[in-house]
Amino acid sequence: MHLARFQAEPAIFAAPGRVNLIGEHTDYAEGFVMPAAIDFATLSGISPRTDGKIVLYSENYGQERAFEAAALPAMGSRHWTDYPLGVVAILAGEGHAIPGFSLSLWGDVPLGSGLSSSAAVEVATALAVLSLIGVSYPGPVLARLCQRAENEFVGANCGIMDQFISANGKQNHALLLDCRDLSFKLAPIPANVALVIANTMVRHSVAGGDYPTRRAESEAACAVIASHRPGVPFLRDATLEDLEKWGHEMTPKSLLRARHVISENLRTVAAAEVLAKGDLAELGRLMAEAHASYSRDFEGSCVEADAMVALAQDLPGLIGARLTGGGFGGCTINLVEQSQAAAFVEALGGRYAAQTGIVPQIHICHASGGAHRVK
Ligand code: ADP
Ligand code: MG
Repeated sequence: MHLARFQAEPAIFAAPGRVNLIGEHTDYAEGFVMPAAIDFATLSGISPRTDGKIVLYSENYGQERAFEAAALPAMGSRHWTDYPLGVVAILAGEGHAIPGFSLSLWGDVPLGSGLSSSAAVEVATALAVLSLIGVSYPGPVLARLCQRAENEFVGANCGIMDQFISANGKQNHALLLDCRDLSFKLAPIPANVALVIANTMVRHSVAGGDYPTRRAESEAACAVIASHRPGVPFLRDATLEDLEKWGHEMTPKSLLRARHVISENLRTVAAAEVLAKGDLAELGRLMAEAHASYSRDFEGSCVEADAMVALAQDLPGLIGARLTGGGFGGCTINLVEQSQAAAFVEALGGRYAAQTGIVPQIHICHASGGAHRVK
């Protein structure tokens, strides 16, 4: 594709999408998340040009746009090119001289479904451009640069998780990430466990009003605790006992949101420990608790996502199920024994369609490696 379009043999890189196994709305509380990279990825192909142009092509969009390497825009234009161009702009801002190049992108990460096709594009682009200019960064640094591209150039206020796991994922492992200092631990996922990702096909708050409200409510609870115990700048530093002592000074909703964030943080750390021990039954229990907390205390779920989780419970092979991602719709993550995965997908899809009238998209994925050079 790249060769035919640009008459040049490209260097090719791949960066995966991801799914978060547990740890929802803990990132901005400087807490823990535990994602895994999945076997859907974005490929980037790059070759140098001599005309000083940066030509970006996406096979997914069947569209090409050209920019001057010497005159990069400072901000995005609400177009898919913002993601790769943002990475280039951030690298230029770091002082790297950016020559002209042709970059083609192709991905099988479903776009805009919460599996982080955006981070996959950023990381695949960063690897390609860095290799072109002969620079290499450690994975965590690469992730930070790509996050900055999405925050500062695209204008999306995402945390570090997506880029971090895309850059640093490991096959057959989940990654427990400390969002405070970006230290991480890998926890093994047995090769016979499939990550079944079920898209509810609903998004209740496209405008995103609920997300900032929830965040403000949990941060208000933290401020109450901090007024008594100054060493609590973030809910990551708070305990459930703090809520017992000072919860009465919070609004009822703030108290509930904080209870979710604090308990979710504990569950996420515990989940990595039980995975390391190979105790999948306990992992499933933690996922069930996490979903209940997300739905009941955080009110971050919706009827359809609750249905998708409930309908999975008695299906053969299920280890654990919960709503993953920012909430109010999106996807559920189901850990399922590989041998049962196909039947699970069939049964869950049928039940969900019968109950909600919506035909879901359900993907069977596996914990995969992070971004790398393909050729
Ligand atoms: P998610 O990251 O959950 O998939 P986002 O809205 O954050 O959803 O990112 C999706 C956007 O990323 C797309 O609308 C598009 O602009 C960009 N994108 C993702 N994959 C590609 C691709 N293969 N080619 C071009 N742009 C892409
Ligand atoms: Mg995204």
